[in-house]
Amino acid sequence: MTRLVPPVAGDPHGLDDVRLEVRKFVAEQRQAGRIGRSADCWLTGWDEDFTRALAARGWLGMTVPVEYGGHGRSHQERFVVTEELLAAGAPVGAHWIADRQIVPSLLKYGTEAQKRKFLPAIARGECYFAIGMSEPDSGSDLASVRTKAEPVDGGWRITGAKVWTSGAHLAHAFICLARTAALDPAHRHDGLSQFIVDLRSPGVDIRPIISMNGKHHFNEVILDEVFVPDGPDGMVFGTVGDGWQQVTSELSFERSGPERFLSTFTLLADVAGHMSARALPRHTDLGRYVARIAGLHQMSTAVAGALERHEPADTAAAVVKVLGTTTEGDIADFADVLGIPDEMDDDPYRTMLADAVVQRPGFTLRGGTNEVLRGVIARGLGMR
Ligand SMILES: Cc1cc2nc3c(=O)[nH]c(=O)nc-3n(C[C@H](O)[C@H](O)[C@H](O)COP(=O)(O)OP(=O)(O)OC[C@H]3O[C@@H](n4cnc5c(N)ncnc54)[C@H](O)[C@@H]3O)c2cc1C
Repeated sequence: MTRLVPPVAGDPHGLDDVRLEVRKFVAEQRQAGRIGRSADCWLTGWDEDFTRALAARGWLGMTVPVEYGGHGRSHQERFVVTEELLAAGAPVGAHWIADRQIVPSLLKYGTEAQKRKFLPAIARGECYFAIGMSEPDSGSDLASVRTKAEPVDGGWRITGAKVWTSGAHLAHAFICLARTAALDPAHRHDGLSQFIVDLRSPGVDIRPIISMNGKHHFNEVILDEVFVPDGPDGMVFGTVGDGWQQVTSELSFERSGPERFLSTFTLLADVAGHMSARALPRHTDLGRYVARIAGLHQMSTAVAGALERHEPADTAAAVVKVLGTTTEGDIADFADVLGIPDEMDDDPYRTMLADAVVQRPGFTLRGGTNEVLRGVIARGLGMR
């Protein structure tokens, strides 16, 4: 029988000490008023002081080897730390992209100079990245990107427009996917390359896209002949022409982590608290959501183990993302229907609920839509 998700290997309680250490830290931070409770904290909670406090504990760059300024710890240890921070709604947005996906990408494709420049800074909590993939007419079909990089003396000049670029107005750099050869309809995935672009470079124009609730997370990033140097100290990322393989090879890391099922966990936890206090009517669906989260925790842990062992996990990661992000949205709907607790002046809860409802459509879109991921799963099962 085809096994969709690998079994959980090893002792599930083997990292309980790390988990308890993070819980203690979170409780201290909360008591000191340094963190509140918020929904979708990994996208919306940008707090550089908190990021530096995590770095001081050794909880950034955990999987980065010691010689590059990291801590040489396992993916499972990083998983436990991030799971606890997300479950608490801690403001982890500033370092999230850098720590989650730029670290493994740099370790795999970065030049020695790029690793030495960025990895220690990421582990210190001082370097923040954004993702420069989507364009106005290219989202699911990334092979259609039109941003162009042309060779010039000493490097490349990049021209184009990126959109939905989370955090670009605050980040230092993004990895930009661009066409370095004309689109060949017969080989659409060829001719793409990646570049590390300093977001303060001449020719970069970052324009805010304001969300329905008036908040600013997204941007449009216009690149007008932005120069990127090549050579040993340059910022070409990986191999020119291999952009597609590079982008897709790290997707399992991006799709299967705890951020794909915990974006509304704080809300669920508070709903449970309000039901227990009888401020909200009791509802049996609460148990269903808790059970779904417990199952997703097992599945996501299992994928983290497979990735640690370098086993292929693309299909399993897509399963976790489809089921996890659907659960996140269902929790927002559940809390929305229950409404605000009776006789309660709880502004943080009100704000968390409102944020969860506004962010909800994005859960199943970002990182690959559910429709597209169902195609990935079908192909993984040999059905297409
Ligand atoms: C909260 C959030 C944060 C984001 N942050 C970033 C970021 O930092 N950087 C970045 O580059 N991008 C970011 N994105 C963009 C995101 O990656 C895209 O929204 C996503 O890839 C979908 O692309 P699209 O919006 O162009 O929709 P489209 O690709 O146009 O899709 C529209 C609809 O058609 C469906 N569809 C498309 N193709 C298929 C297919 N083959 N089979 C079945 N159905 C299909 C989709 O499922 C969707 O419902 C973010 C998006 C969100 C919501």
